[in-house]
Amino acid sequence: MATAHHPAGVLGFGRTGASAARALAASGHTVVVWDDAAAGRRAAAESGFAVRELAPPLARIVASPGVAPAHPQLQAAARAGIPVWGDIDEFSHRLAQDPATASTVIGVTGTNGKSSAVAMIEHLLRACGRSCAAGGNLGTPALDLPHPLDGVYVLELSSFQLARCRGFRPDVALLLNIGTDHLDWHKTRSAYVAAKEKIFRMQRPEDAAVICIDDVAGERVRERLAARTDGPRVIAVSARRPCPGGVWVEDGVLCDDLDGGRSAIGLIGSLLQVPGRHNWQNAVAAWAAARLVGAPPDDLAAALADFRGLPHRLEALEPVAGVAFINDSKATNVAAAAAALACFDRVCWVAGGRGKDEDLDPLVALAHRVDAGFFFGEDGPVLEAAFATRAPVARFERMDAAVTSAFARARRGSPPPPVLLSPACASYDQFADFEARGAAFRAVVEAIARAEA
Ligand code: ADP
Repeated sequence: MATAHHPAGVLGFGRTGASAARALAASGHTVVVWDDAAAGRRAAAESGFAVRELAPPLARIVASPGVAPAHPQLQAAARAGIPVWGDIDEFSHRLAQDPATASTVIGVTGTNGKSSAVAMIEHLLRACGRSCAAGGNLGTPALDLPHPLDGVYVLELSSFQLARCRGFRPDVALLLNIGTDHLDWHKTRSAYVAAKEKIFRMQRPEDAAVICIDDVAGERVRERLAARTDGPRVIAVSARRPCPGGVWVEDGVLCDDLDGGRSAIGLIGSLLQVPGRHNWQNAVAAWAAARLVGAPPDDLAAALADFRGLPHRLEALEPVAGVAFINDSKATNVAAAAAALACFDRVCWVAGGRGKDEDLDPLVALAHRVDAGFFFGEDGPVLEAAFATRAPVARFERMDAAVTSAFARARRGSPPPPVLLSPACASYDQFADFEARGAAFRAVVEAIARAEA
């Protein structure tokens, strides 16, 4: 049984769970919280919430993105007919309660590039004088963003969040790419793709779906969506080939055909300060999204030129003794690390951590760019085995030793190749998260710089 006057449950009290608990309390609900970790339960109690296992009667449960559907309290809720929402449904519900608010929602998903694209869209819109609030999966949780907002919400959405969505209907939904990730949560690739595709499910003809068709999976999503009679306006974007009616890069030129009458905006390499073709993909998508919420193309071209990337995504640190150091700690899967390797002719590559059982072929195909591989952590041996016949390789227990050794080799090069940390693996075997890993990389580089001074 679930009725509105029953308490609302929040499962998981990390940043997203805490934002949900606060939002539910602010909208008049009595809130009960459960977290499997004692630290989470303590934090919830310290924030003034009742803490107990979630059991009927409850109005609904808002489950944190990381809590898998198999969690016993969610299973029990399903049996008892209690709705299980994610924070994004709670966000949509709050927006729907207040129809007077003139806000627009852009939702962004994809395997890689979500944060970069969200940051780009936010940057573009602000540069055009639009009020906007960006957050979601990373950064500020959706329910902690300013509300009400007379402007544009730009939400980064993970597959976990989308898998739980029922009523979320963004004005502009954007799918960047579909690789492989998080199969521990979704179980199968088709479930993962289906979760990503849910970003479009509630959209109607007055909404826009921006789909990057650089990978086959994106192309298939576009076909399925175009076949829907009541579906949104479908706009293809590509970093590789023309997309009539969309935005693309052709012969290095950014082209915009959103209004028909294709216009060449300029050379993408000169417009963008952030490196790599993968950022072209983010740029065509961000450009389309910003245009679809009314940003004028003339302002956008100037704005794109002063976008500086995010930390931990191909972030250039201070060089030491002529050796460049690149922090790409956020590359937690094969596709992201392959995008990084593709940016350099020769590189001393530091990689490893907790692998995701992925096919390493996309990395192996870039072995000619690897001057030497310095592999560490749980999957160090797996990477070592894949590259041993293709490049000089060395294996280390810990990342700092790998970085120091990579520097020792790089400085002998002429010119010295950059030292790139792009792990292709999750960080959890040795670090709290990718940010801690990136900070540790920076600390080693600073120590090397001190020793060289
Ligand atoms: P997400 O939020 O989806 O994890 P990020 O923008 O944080 O994406 O980038 C994650 C990693 O993927 C970084 O290593 C970054 O350099 C790389 N990356 C960014 N955009 C793309 C893209 N479009 N395709 C492949 N890799 C990308």
